Amino acid sequence: MEESGSLSNKISDMLVKYKFQIFILDCMGIHIAVFFYSLFFGIDVLTIFNVGSLLIYALCIFFLMNKKPRFCFYVAYTEIVVHTFMCSLILGHKFGFGLCFVAVGPVVFSTLYTRGNRRTLVNCLGLSAISYILFTTCYLISLNHEPLFKSPAIDDSVPYVYLLNMLNAFISISLYSVIFIVEVDAAYDKLYSKNKELNVLANRDTLTGLYNRRTMTQQVMKLYEAYKESNEVFALIICDIDDFKDVNDSLGHDCGDEVLKVIAKTLSSLVREGDYLCRWGGEEFLIMLKNINHDVAMSIAERFRSKIEETEIRYKEFRLSITMTFGVASADEGETYEELFHLADTRLYEGKEAGKNTVR
Ligand code: GH3
Ligand code: MG
Ligand code: MG
Repeated sequence: MEESGSLSNKISDMLVKYKFQIFILDCMGIHIAVFFYSLFFGIDVLTIFNVGSLLIYALCIFFLMNKKPRFCFYVAYTEIVVHTFMCSLILGHKFGFGLCFVAVGPVVFSTLYTRGNRRTLVNCLGLSAISYILFTTCYLISLNHEPLFKSPAIDDSVPYVYLLNMLNAFISISLYSVIFIVEVDAAYDKLYSKNKELNVLANRDTLTGLYNRRTMTQQVMKLYEAYKESNEVFALIICDIDDFKDVNDSLGHDCGDEVLKVIAKTLSSLVREGDYLCRWGGEEFLIMLKNINHDVAMSIAERFRSKIEETEIRYKEFRLSITMTFGVASADEGETYEELFHLADTRLYEGKEAGKNTVR
């Protein structure tokens, strides 16, 4: 599945990358076909014209190689409409060369338009208008004038040439619509992944990968509202690393960062799915436990405390034992969610005062 996915991605990338080249090759293919057709039926003026056209496309390839795709497209567009006009006048409208005026529409937009650039949009609309005017002119001329080249020999070929022109128009319209869709999809994917990146930056703490204070505050607000409405209890635990400044001072800031990461990982492994853990500030973490009353929250905080105490943190050749102090508050203890934060913080402070490495 994945392989075919990446294959289709590769094909899509190629289509977008080579959209100018595909257009030029398509035009060259038509001109080679018309060249042999007119040579076969002795339509000299068209034979000579197609030789000239092929020379122009050789020049277009030169422009493409010199990274001038837009200029190349304008030259090719001019050639294709003049050629279509000539074919319609010389052979007659019934051969279906006029379909090229329609088929070139999606190619114009897909290759020339640049997002957010009004000028390219005006150019595209202008070229479409030219195509339409030329198509109508050819059609009106065909109503009042005979084709310039008339021969019973070519009459039998009318349905074949018409169907080939239709096939070319169909392929061209489908192909450039696909290219357009691929480009829109690619732009969407890029936007989506950028959005995801921004979301992470806005909601997560960069050092630990935990939720940040902003996201956590929003979650607590929501949960507090639910508590007020339907009495769904929850508890908050604020915890702070003991004597963290000493770690930084004695082993350096990088060691302090490593300690923060290990503590974050350890707490994450202890928190149930559906509960929230965030980095509340420098070396403080906040845990939000759903559907938990005060007594249960106290025993959970005690479990966290003893797990942190047992965890040996390695940094270079050092082995560190870290402790944390915990302050617990449950939803029914505050009139507002801010009061709950404050209460948990006060209990944390009491724990620090009482000698740290404890739950209050
Ligand atoms: P207490 O036991 O009372 O909590 O003392 P403490 O030393 O842990 O607390 P204090 O507030 O005195 O110092 C906290 C230190 O945490 C100071 C600050 O430089 C450090 N700190 C805050 N954020 C970071 C961080 O992202 N990385 C590192 N390495 N240190 C940090
Ligand atoms: Mg501390
Ligand atoms: Mg602190």
